[in-house]
Amino acid sequence: MRIAIDPGHGMSNRQPGLYDPGATHVEAGFRFEEAEIALRYAFVLREALRARGGAVFLTREDAGDHAPVAERVANAKLAGARALVSLHLNTVEDERANGVEVLYRGEASRPLAQALQGAVSAAAKLRDRGIKERDDLAVLRFPGPAALVELGFLGNDADRAVLLNPARRQAICEAIAETLLAAAIPARAAGPLGARRGATRRSRGA
Ligand SMILES: [Zn+2]
Repeated sequence: MRIAIDPGHGMSNRQPGLYDPGATHVEAGFRFEEAEIALRYAFVLREALRARGGAVFLTREDAGDHAPVAERVANAKLAGARALVSLHLNTVEDERANGVEVLYRGEASRPLAQALQGAVSAAAKLRDRGIKERDDLAVLRFPGPAALVELGFLGNDADRAVLLNPARRQAICEAIAETLLAAAIPARAAGPLGARRGATRRSRGA
């Protein structure tokens, strides 16, 4: 079961040959970049998926990879990915804005978006801003369950502290991995055998 992880932004994302850092925020002389933080999340998520028996395709692996946004979905398809998650950080002028939101395109991806929204906001212990349908994002034109997770707001002090915390990053990535694998293997959750097993386990545990 191969899952595509798209660390948002990076080299050639918007313009060939140009590095797109995504959102940036300067605090005490240090410049935080969305592209770099998203990549760190992608590496931890890759390990969390592999630990659960999943295979992973990354749309980019470093800050130098030529990865135009228009080609990321095509590359994920070629790699045989069954589901796709794009990792981003939000930004707005208002530094009070905070929380997690998940973007999706089309009804088929709505259940994954909803599941990720709940799992990520719970693991991050950040505000649940809900899911939003977006038809204009190239990276969501994937022929399988796909969602773009805005992990939090880079410009918000509380969100940024959570996003940069390694333990919290691990917990968030574990939650994303569980959710993605459940979505990519619908038969496991919905099949009659799976349902019977689930019922037995529940009654024993009660
Ligand atoms: Zn972004």
